[in-house]
Amino acid sequence: MSNQKEIVMSGIRPTGFLHLGNYFGAIRNYVRMQEDFECYFMVADLHSLTTHPDTKELKENVHRVLAENIACGLDPDKVALYCQSHVYETSELYLYLNMLAYKGELEKTVTFKDKARQHPDNINAGLLTYPVLQTADIILHRAKYVPVGKDQEQHLEMARNFANRFNHRYGEVFPEPIAFNYNQELVKVPSLDGTGKMSKSENQMATLYLADEDDMIRKKVMKTKTDGGPTAPNSPKPDYIENIFGLMKLVSNEEVINKFDNDYNNCSIRYGDMKKQLAGDMVNFIAPIRSKVNAILADEHYLKDVMRKGAEKARASARATMLLVREAIGLNY
Ligand code: AMP
Repeated sequence: MSNQKEIVMSGIRPTGFLHLGNYFGAIRNYVRMQEDFECYFMVADLHSLTTHPDTKELKENVHRVLAENIACGLDPDKVALYCQSHVYETSELYLYLNMLAYKGELEKTVTFKDKARQHPDNINAGLLTYPVLQTADIILHRAKYVPVGKDQEQHLEMARNFANRFNHRYGEVFPEPIAFNYNQELVKVPSLDGTGKMSKSENQMATLYLADEDDMIRKKVMKTKTDGGPTAPNSPKPDYIENIFGLMKLVSNEEVINKFDNDYNNCSIRYGDMKKQLAGDMVNFIAPIRSKVNAILADEHYLKDVMRKGAEKARASARATMLLVREAIGLNY
């Protein structure tokens, strides 16, 4: 990997099947960025332990996330594609950063509050310090750009705070990491019922997974909420209709979108037809990825090799950063 390229880092937790939100919020940019940047992309297995302590399905899930990334176009020869727990240096940096993170700011994190509500019996310290571990993952490679979805905005702001705090206290080691989407707004793919975002483990009938069979995709899309249609020309669209147009913008061509937009504005729209079109376009988008994933998953030897090579590249970068970190802190006696 060339040293002149700017550095990119991001990760996805192996807590279930990947979905359209993961694709359009994160993976689409990974694939684009691999051509021009030095990229580190990982399966965040340690993060998943904060909410999924049962590890029975972890191996299968790690393999699936790797296979899904590769099937979407990520090339393990161009990027470091690795498993978080294989890079031991992360844990050391996490420890140092924990001394720079305050209980008050961690308790205010929106994702911490949400997860504490969802898992009242397991509000562990790892959950509280999740943004610290995430910061360690990123700055371990001195990464500048972090391709993520909108839900990660606050975590990235915290990562900048922790990196800056380290630099002020011990000397300049880290660049400020920023959430990246090619100068566009960060993406949030809404759930099909419009009540939140698509997610790996919640609201499964309102989430389109990259592993969904064609019939399931059609069923989920056809179930989305509509109404009797607009009664006056050029009316504003209700949220749930805006949602359907939003999903169409992800997978349908411009002509199709313009047609339904015009139909909406002159009150001739037939939502049944629109949903059929969207379902067909979703199937065309998802089906080829799904079949590639299945082929990759069948080759465990290949996946292990990807992880081994990925960890080697990631650890080389991590070791170089940790020399600077220990030197800066003064742990050099
Ligand atoms: P996670 O599934 O929480 O491990 O997130 C992995 C990546 O997918 C992160 O960059 C998230 O911001 C992104 N992501 C997850 N859900 C969505 C969504 N519904 N819309 C956009 N991006 C998402």
